[in-house]
Amino acid sequence: MSNCIFCRIASGEIPSTIVARSPEAVAFRDQNPQAPTHVLVIPVRHYAGLNDLTDADGVRHLAAVTALALQVAKQEGLWEDGYRVVFNSGANGGQSVYHLHAHLLGGRKMSWPPG
Ligand code: 5GP
Ligand code: ZN
Repeated sequence: MSNCIFCRIASGEIPSTIVARSPEAVAFRDQNPQAPTHVLVIPVRHYAGLNDLTDADGVRHLAAVTALALQVAKQEGLWEDGYRVVFNSGANGGQSVYHLHAHLLGGRKMSWPPG
């Protein structure tokens, strides 16, 4: 989708700090980090959010995003101490960009419940 900011990041049209790639997913640093490590992991293919993952292809892309998030957690040295992976979904979930993405957060102790 040409008007989607994360599609444009995935294609390289908008610059970002990419930390990892797989054939189906891209990981790049959040422009407004909420933790020492804050990486966004997106499928290359456009899905607006979790609600769009309705078929086997969607589940496969979700798996690809999760697998890349775990790879980045290792790469960023978060594996032993722990980290958080968050998918915000819809208005109440706090989603602001409607291209599916996982937030990988780490490098500090997280609190619960989230705000
Ligand atoms: P959401 O609120 O949808 O769960 O998360 C969207 C995230 O995307 C936010 O954390 C925001 O800082 C990040 N973001 C929005 N636009 C850009 C951008 O152009 N580049 C990067 N690197 N991050 C962005
Ligand atoms: Zn998109």
